[in-house]
Amino acid sequence: MTESAPEVARTSRRSAGWAKVIGAATALGVGATVVYGVVETGSWWLSAIVAVCGALAVLIVWGMMASVAHDAEKTAALEAAGTRVRATVVRAERADDVVHEVVLRIPLPDGSAFDVEHRCSHYSCAAATREAATARPVIVDPATRAWAVVH
Ligand SMILES: [Zn+2]
Repeated sequence: MTESAPEVARTSRRSAGWAKVIGAATALGVGATVVYGVVETGSWWLSAIVAVCGALAVLIVWGMMASVAHDAEKTAALEAAGTRVRATVVRAERADDVVHEVVLRIPLPDGSAFDVEHRCSHYSCAAATREAATARPVIVDPATRAWAVVH
């Protein structure tokens, strides 16, 4: 059995910054495309379709940006409060071609430990399924049991 300890997707402030740049570029690109579409086609319904698709694309990118920024925030909090430990690989198997399921036993400073399931496509976690890795570096916050695998 695995306990429901919150996993944090480790995200650096740098990648959160890049997400903002990509998001802004996407919004600008879509805006320009919509304006171009309205001017060039001269048909209102085609423009409407372009505008709706554009708005959808911006929304999707916006959502991704927000989640990356949120992950970066949680990562910073975890890095500040947490400690680095080596989690034992209890079980590891391929879920499909890219995703691996790795059950990790995370030790806590008080001597106890808890199991979590980590679904991941990173090559270092894939190594665990080939039994090339018997432990994975993890950051854990003993108070909240929030954790993140260090890749
Ligand atoms: Zn992983």
